[in-house]
Amino acid sequence: MSSQTNQSSPSSMDAIPSTNRITDFSLHPAAKALERFKQNPRVSRVRLIVPHDACPTCRQLEGEYDKDDVPELPLLSCSHPLGCRSFYEPMLTEIYP
Ligand SMILES: [Zn+2]
Repeated sequence: MSSQTNQSSPSSMDAIPSTNRITDFSLHPAAKALERFKQNPRVSRVRLIVPHDACPTCRQLEGEYDKDDVPELPLLSCSHPLGCRSFYEPMLTEIYP
């Protein structure tokens, strides 16, 4: 008496060309934050913060990045059962007049 769930997984995930396509990832708070940082000229670099109990993949990526070169969150290779909970922290540039 087992009810089987139909697990049909569409395999069209591989060829997402650019970020202007709306995916579930765009709803991730970190993804939204990064978008704001990229539009903010005062933010030059972004630090990727990973939680204390993050998976090894996330921990490897912890660090500081150029904001155009920062890994996108949530990390697809994240293996944490609760999902990727890493986030970005902006590094503000001091602009002198
Ligand atoms: Zn992870």
